[in-house]
Amino acid sequence: MVEKKYYKLIPKVDEILNDENIQELLKFMPRKIVIDAINEELNKIRTIIKMGEDEAKINSYLNNVIYNIIENCKIKNNFNLKRVINATGIIIHTNLGRSLLNPEVIDNLKEVSINYSNLEFDIEKGTRGSRYSHLERIISQVTGSEASLVVNNNAAAVLLVLSTLAKNKKVIISRGELIEIGGSFRIPEVMEQSGAVLKEVGTTNKTHFEDYLNAIDEDTSCIMKVHTSNYKILGFTSDVPISELNKLKTDKIYLIEDLGSGVLIDLSKYGICYEPTVAESIKNGADIVTFSGDKLLGGPQAGIIVGKKELIDRMKRNPLTRALRVDKFTISALESTFRYYLDDEISIEKIPTLKMMMKSLEEIETQVKRVFKKLQAIINSENIIFGIADDFSEIGGGSLPLERLRTKCLTIEVKGISIVEFEDKLRNYETPIITRISKDKIILDFRTIREDEEDILLKAILYACEII
Ligand SMILES: *Cc1c(COP(=O)(O)O)cnc(C)c1O
Repeated sequence: MVEKKYYKLIPKVDEILNDENIQELLKFMPRKIVIDAINEELNKIRTIIKMGEDEAKINSYLNNVIYNIIENCKIKNNFNLKRVINATGIIIHTNLGRSLLNPEVIDNLKEVSINYSNLEFDIEKGTRGSRYSHLERIISQVTGSEASLVVNNNAAAVLLVLSTLAKNKKVIISRGELIEIGGSFRIPEVMEQSGAVLKEVGTTNKTHFEDYLNAIDEDTSCIMKVHTSNYKILGFTSDVPISELNKLKTDKIYLIEDLGSGVLIDLSKYGICYEPTVAESIKNGADIVTFSGDKLLGGPQAGIIVGKKELIDRMKRNPLTRALRVDKFTISALESTFRYYLDDEISIEKIPTLKMMMKSLEEIETQVKRVFKKLQAIINSENIIFGIADDFSEIGGGSLPLERLRTKCLTIEVKGISIVEFEDKLRNYETPIITRISKDKIILDFRTIREDEEDILLKAILYACEII
């Protein structure tokens, strides 16, 4: 039996633990991780022997056992949630964490995290306070709202609004606005969860004022508008703006709007498609407006509810609020982000999401050319071809679906191996590089790559080129 001979060659766990390299590793690596890695490696070797793999392979594993364990430990010791470089050009990339925070935002977040804070304490009076009080003034200043409440995300915001104002009551909504957002957020399903009864009016492409008017009865509590942020119905269409629906409001029928993206400045002033702002929605008559914190607003994950004080007070008393409440990290990051909006110019300068949207083609081109030149100087292989191409970036996050921002991309073509393998290597680098493949080329859009990330990117590309 060949097998038996090899089983005897497998080192014992204790022997491995006594190896000087492993001893060195144990000085900074948790023992549990090392033991796990040892057991995993030894099991792997046993399996290979059992499967009757050829001798060369078995020997290679036996000879490299310490090296493999150390490499595996390094991987195991990495954080699971970690930074990546987003080379997709999709600015609000939900899978990659949506909006980025300005490093300055972290300063106060750190202060209130490593120290005690006045999270629910009124310093002036020395009595218990409300965690929501920290945001209410700044949100009013920026949006013109009477009152506000912040919850876990916008889906939670919609749930809380409907549960408070429309439980067992009818909510009138246009068929063209019964949307699904990625990650199984469907307006009709959220309504059902909240206990509200959906009353659809109009058709997919057209809904008229009369449709809303005729649907109102004594059970109606709300008229709801949902901003179709992730698609547009074009062509033979019409919908009724908030300013019109305003006429249908009574003291028992509220007008609510789910804006989705939460734009706070007029983007059309900066060459981007117009998108309704929160302030406009309130001015045009919405009693309640909900929006996300981490989409176009550019802050942390949150759902922001603004509007009439009397209605917001009712929501604060809803027991659901406790289940959906935000922590001090969110409150701190949101306060810092909202402060930037006290000045439009500052918001564009300081909020990464907005900054990336406004990034000029020249700026992007300068970056691409710089990296391109460096790569050409270092890598001299006929099997790797770098190029620069025109393309379009997307805003993402289900926001502004038709907006196409002109951009410049670095392209990589490889011979000898498949492009999929090369992409895999980039993605599995220490700092993963997330790219896309188009027509057998890797495309790296520099709109979402910062200048200070270029060095890491270069190293990752060099690393991936080693396999060729
Ligand atoms: C994105 C979006 C939501 C969900 O917001 P989250 O913050 O992701 O929970 C709800 N409604 C609309 C219109 C949206 O665009």
